[in-house]
Amino acid sequence: MNWILKVEVGYYFDVNSYLYVDEKTLHGFLIDPGEEAQKLLKICADKNFVIEKILITHGHFDHIGAVNEIQKKLKIPAVMHEEGKIYATNPAWNYSDDFDEPIILNDVIFLPDHSKISVEGNPNFYVELIHTPGHTKDGAIYYSEQDGIAFVGDTIFKQSYGRTDLLGGDTKTLFKSIREKILTLPDKTVLYSGHTAATSVGAEKIFF
Ligand SMILES: [Zn+2]
Repeated sequence: MNWILKVEVGYYFDVNSYLYVDEKTLHGFLIDPGEEAQKLLKICADKNFVIEKILITHGHFDHIGAVNEIQKKLKIPAVMHEEGKIYATNPAWNYSDDFDEPIILNDVIFLPDHSKISVEGNPNFYVELIHTPGHTKDGAIYYSEQDGIAFVGDTIFKQSYGRTDLLGGDTKTLFKSIREKILTLPDKTVLYSGHTAATSVGAEKIFF
């Protein structure tokens, strides 16, 4: 079984970061390092994980706050949906200007909908970026068909969904994303969100 580790980070409020790592090569991905770079780096070092890319579900400060510090150490790119440019480069859009330090990301690969992202040495270990706008313009989930899981950020929570009153948010668009991109995945797909316990497609279908 491949590694799926949830790491709660955050000084302001709790954010779920995740490590998704191939059991064969120990290469994998770090999803949404919102805070506490040192804690995340220590877990990777202790477990001998080789993180190849940082996957960002959307460009809000609480999901990207530790990206620069981790990149300084690991020299790896971050990945966002192509609508993410304004969030990566504008602290008003990523809301970091409400806190101490404005966040600007410089080393990001912007990818289109349905991009497949795999690790070196095992092309069978990959995730698919699926664009799910609504909470933000750049909202994306990272779906692994082989493990039946998806990292969904703030698009959908256990019995709830992301707020739509921030810059680039839109309720109608969010519900369309949830219904057409997430609830169409197999029922047993486990959804790992940015702020709540895990849930599943089947469990959420009754709410939308
Ligand atoms: Zn958010």
